Amino acid sequence: MQTLTIIVPCYNEEAVIETCYTRLKATLDSLSLKSQVIFINDGSRDETYSILTAIAKRDSRVILINFSRNFGHQAAVTAGIHHCQTDFAIIIDADLQDPPELIPDLLECREREQANVVYCVRKSRTGESRFKLWSSKIFYRELNRLSEVKFPLDTGDFRLIDSKIIQEFNRFKERGKYIRGLISWVGFKQVPFFYEREARYAGKTKYPLKRMLSFASKALFYFSKKPLLMAISLGFVAVIVGILMAFWYIFGKIFGYTNAESGWTSIMIAIIFFGGIQLLTIGVLGQYIGILFDEVKERPEYIIEEIVNNPVKISVKS
Ligand code: UDP
Ligand code: MG
Repeated sequence: MQTLTIIVPCYNEEAVIETCYTRLKATLDSLSLKSQVIFINDGSRDETYSILTAIAKRDSRVILINFSRNFGHQAAVTAGIHHCQTDFAIIIDADLQDPPELIPDLLECREREQANVVYCVRKSRTGESRFKLWSSKIFYRELNRLSEVKFPLDTGDFRLIDSKIIQEFNRFKERGKYIRGLISWVGFKQVPFFYEREARYAGKTKYPLKRMLSFASKALFYFSKKPLLMAISLGFVAVIVGILMAFWYIFGKIFGYTNAESGWTSIMIAIIFFGGIQLLTIGVLGQYIGILFDEVKERPEYIIEEIVNNPVKISVKS
């Protein structure tokens, strides 16, 4: 019989976790394959942990991975993937924005297409701010222009992956994981599945603007070296502007159409312009150096405090 793991990252989700479990259970019970659910408690500060422990106590198919602190959404999903040894895994948010009732459809789509990945594309998104929709649209379009791999638009981490993808994913050594990008990067057969994304069932989004920006910069700097090239292009522009200005002033001096004493404005403009370009390019370099700094330390991506219902002793890939 084929096996399936559902991976659910949870951070301060006390308001939704019980309903999430109930709806997942109802869906999984209707399937003909063997299934388990891995909840990752990503250092929640509310009652999420105690609710999940209670669920794991009464249902042995529920595995709870409890982090020592909050390591972030991507680390939580990574831990889930590292711990699943089933034929398929489905990554889903705890807040029920991605309806668990779609799981049979995803499996059916995989079967029909014989795909390795079924990624879910949002046809519509209720309950998201206009700013979030607009900014994410522009961001993904630009990211696709800059990145080495193409990212499907309007997708999140909600997707089905098979054991081939899980196996390849477990070979990734980078710590700063942008999971949807990495899965696209792996290749094999990846097919879309269109769905209506619902509004958050309860609770608040864990992605305020600041976190959204850092998530976006991870995608950009981990998947593209083009910002470095753009820094060089900017440098070229600056040099050309500098040369033109030099000619202008030298000839101006010779032919007397500029007045040296009144040069204050042009000097200030040149200083500000070139200074700006220098800071910008140093900033771009700094981003990559920062990533190198983080990666070279080789710290673990997450620390597990305990695993409830640990099915087998699994060696966690670092
Ligand atoms: N999440 C997590 N750790 C974090 C932030 C979020 O495990 O540090 C989980 C969260 O509980 C949810 C999922 O990641 O299941 C997506 O978060 P959220 O719904 O807040 O993001 P949004 O849908 O607003 O982009
Ligand atoms: Mg959400």
